[in-house]
Amino acid sequence: MGTFILSSLQYKGLLKLGDVVIPGDGELPKFSDTEQARYADKMLKYMNQEDLDGLKLVLIVFAIIPKFFIALILKLSEKAQGEGFVASQLRLVNIGLKGVPLTLYYSNLNDNGQQIHNILKWDSEIKSIPKGVDEMEQYTDSYAKNKVQNLVINADHSEVDIAGKVFKRARQNQVEVTQMSIEERLTFITRLKEVILERREWIIERIQKDNGKTKTDALVSEIFGVLDHLHWLEKNTKKALKDETVATPIALMGKKSKIYYDALGTILVISPWNYPFYQAIVPITAAFVAGNTVVYKPSEFTPLEGVLEELMELSGIKSEWVQVVYGTGKMGTALIDQRPDKIFFTGSVATGKKIMRQASEQLIPVELELGGKDPAIVFEDANIERAARGVVWGALTCTGQSCTSVEQVYVHESIYEKFKAVVLSEVQKIRLGEETDGEGELGLMTTEGQVQIVADHMQDATSKGASVLSGADWDGKSRAIPPLVFENLRDDMKITNEETFGPILPLMKFTSEQDLVDKLNQSEYGLSASIWSGDKNRCERVAHALHTGNVSINNVMLTEGNPNLPFGGVKNSGIGRYKGVHGLRGFTNMKSIIFDSNSSKCEVIWYPYTAKKYRSFDKMMVALFTGGIMNFIKFALTGIGLESYSDKIAKK
Ligand code: NAD
Repeated sequence: MGTFILSSLQYKGLLKLGDVVIPGDGELPKFSDTEQARYADKMLKYMNQEDLDGLKLVLIVFAIIPKFFIALILKLSEKAQGEGFVASQLRLVNIGLKGVPLTLYYSNLNDNGQQIHNILKWDSEIKSIPKGVDEMEQYTDSYAKNKVQNLVINADHSEVDIAGKVFKRARQNQVEVTQMSIEERLTFITRLKEVILERREWIIERIQKDNGKTKTDALVSEIFGVLDHLHWLEKNTKKALKDETVATPIALMGKKSKIYYDALGTILVISPWNYPFYQAIVPITAAFVAGNTVVYKPSEFTPLEGVLEELMELSGIKSEWVQVVYGTGKMGTALIDQRPDKIFFTGSVATGKKIMRQASEQLIPVELELGGKDPAIVFEDANIERAARGVVWGALTCTGQSCTSVEQVYVHESIYEKFKAVVLSEVQKIRLGEETDGEGELGLMTTEGQVQIVADHMQDATSKGASVLSGADWDGKSRAIPPLVFENLRDDMKITNEETFGPILPLMKFTSEQDLVDKLNQSEYGLSASIWSGDKNRCERVAHALHTGNVSINNVMLTEGNPNLPFGGVKNSGIGRYKGVHGLRGFTNMKSIIFDSNSSKCEVIWYPYTAKKYRSFDKMMVALFTGGIMNFIKFALTGIGLESYSDKIAKK
């Protein structure tokens, strides 16, 4: 090929520019996938020297800045208004820059005149990233078919092959992510936040299509939650992950101690179907800003095919940094076999146990966000109207398919009837069913399997004597389940013990605070709870006493609404915490560092050991831990003696 016209840095810039101009879709591979840029010299040598010099300079800049900045520059120069010299020059620059990749892309002949890509034709239509919802839908469908199917679905490869390839790619790109500064990683988060804001309607449509939740539930529980989290990352990541200096004890005088929050490597995120967007973006971005590459497997029931890939691409997050792999539990198993550096799993207790078992074979750290049977406790001094309406929402939002849904309601016997009356009047007003205009209140169940579980729990309860106060007319099959309010419940029913994950509201009476807390603490779950009372001390006492990971006081499902708070459960509800500073650090290797000087002196504890040295150490230790000023002086003198002793030995 002769001498190269572009340096490797300029070549990198050319590839990036090319990918912005030709992002690729279902029919056309993106610029960097075509290998066409390899033949750049063939074209560039015909360029006017001045233009070439200008291009080379710009390519260096493009090599350094993120892709979305390149897109922004092109857009601004394209839109340069006015007739002046500057505006016309900018428009020319835009044409020139776009011209280079486009010419290369469509000149599908190599040096020997052979055709390189059959797929590329001179008359092919050039696609740009669409903007409208309809256009985006089409784009995503073709994108999904191409990329997703290539990768997993329908592939000729087994799950094991795919998992191997994906992890190889993740590991090859790990250094690139790790070596980026936190600020640089956060530029992608900012862009992602902007892209999600811009495309929110389209994302909501896709969530509704896969999951069945109402438009308002999708907006509040998924989009708002995600934006809030990304905003939190922007504001807090740098502080949370910067090297931290910690105190060094006096016995180690002269040294300095630090904690580094370094990346772990490649994180495997496996998600459930109830929050297909939130449970994806939150752990993925937290893992990414901490410097990890991510492999993400959505639930087979709510894959949101192509959505994540597209949002990441529009944000400049490379597909090698965050890879989406579709499939069932079999795919999940194959991915775990690749030994990720950490597994972040959200899902059922049964699967959580399987994952932990498999992970234990290779000692892979796991974080498990599992199910719950969250109680609401309503004391006699609660504001009944507020508590009842809060509990109704907490039980029914997202069709009761939240890990922190209210699944059992304990009401003090003295206000039970009044509370029940408000609950029943509230649930009668709830609008049920599928909608796309924001008017719906109780959405569809997501899977047939979950509908069967609700029907089974209902049948079990009624056969053991429970009364159905609302929803008795449900046929036990439809995905549109009305609010199911029960009373006369017993502790041996499935509905009072197992996670139902549907729009249920079991009402129960209690008399003694202590008895109730003891009873609730016997549950196998410990995710969240809500306490409703006018007595702050009582609320705090009960909140401390409950064996759960979260408690909302005079509100419901609200701890997860504050991105500063860690989130997670105890007992069968999970292991570990995500979100907040603690959660973010969970995606890091907390590395302990101690600095000492590069002096010629040796440490007193190093060899040789002698009886005299032993006695001095003993004396020093007793003086240090006995306390008091005289002992401190004794400690200091012994320490000095030991130091000089060590010097003498070193000089021998
Ligand atoms: P699930 O356990 O059936 O599936 C979750 C994910 O695990 C899916 O992607 C699935 O394909 C995958 N999977 C299944 N078997 C696997 C295996 N052997 N190895 C690896 N991956 C495997 O859960 P689900 O039914 O999708 O979700 C509902 C559950 O999630 C409920 O129990 C709910 O409480 C829980 N959840 C918990 C939280 C939380 O933060 N604690 C949040 C949301 C949902």
